[in-house]
Amino acid sequence: MKRIGLIGGMSWESTVTYYQIINEAIREACGGLVSADLVMHSLDFSEVVALQKADRWKDAAVLLGSAGARLAHAGAECVLICTNTMHLVADTVEKMSGVTLINIVDETAAALKADGRRRPLLLATRYTMEHGFYTDRMRSHGLNVVVPEEDDRGAVHDIIFGELCQGEIKDSSRQRYLDIIEKARSKGIDSVILGCTEIPLLINERMLALPCYDSTEIHAKAAVRFSLKKNDINKAA
Ligand code: GLU
Repeated sequence: MKRIGLIGGMSWESTVTYYQIINEAIREACGGLVSADLVMHSLDFSEVVALQKADRWKDAAVLLGSAGARLAHAGAECVLICTNTMHLVADTVEKMSGVTLINIVDETAAALKADGRRRPLLLATRYTMEHGFYTDRMRSHGLNVVVPEEDDRGAVHDIIFGELCQGEIKDSSRQRYLDIIEKARSKGIDSVILGCTEIPLLINERMLALPCYDSTEIHAKAAVRFSLKKNDINKAA
């Protein structure tokens, strides 16, 4: 088993899910008492959010890159940035870590493509929906990502930071998300990307009439495939 390195804490509400999915998948693959060989650096999320708000992405890159380097020093053979948003600085983190970075955008794209999806709706933070690092990379994989309208993007973003990242799950916010998805159906979407690692705490495929891609689960399972060297990590779970 190869050692997995997690750069977590962004927020820890979803890092918990990573830890659980990785260990469940390892147990399913190996059985019995086998559990993941894993190291984690859990950052103080308030520091990361302050850098995001101040548009200080270079400083954020160094913060996460240093964490990645420490994980590699602790024997990690791959690193995961356990958030979609901070993949904005993935290139620097990969360079500073010096080990394979399992990219959440590429893994999610591979899962969508394996199912023949072409036009997914992206629900994520404003950074992920608006900065281009995510949608452009998806387009390079042949996926025509649709984002919600301006006021709906604001609502999706505010619910992530104001509620989900603070452990608050509200029925009214769930309904707001479902309404936004319903509205987007008129734009011909064929699927929904839960492109923020906390969104699966609020909604899941059972609540939707469309296929749904959970970025947390896809990313965590890619780490397990890497660790067990079973498949090409680019294959969808
Ligand atoms: N976990 C979230 C994501 O997947 C948002 C938190 C962050 O800003 O990193 O984008």
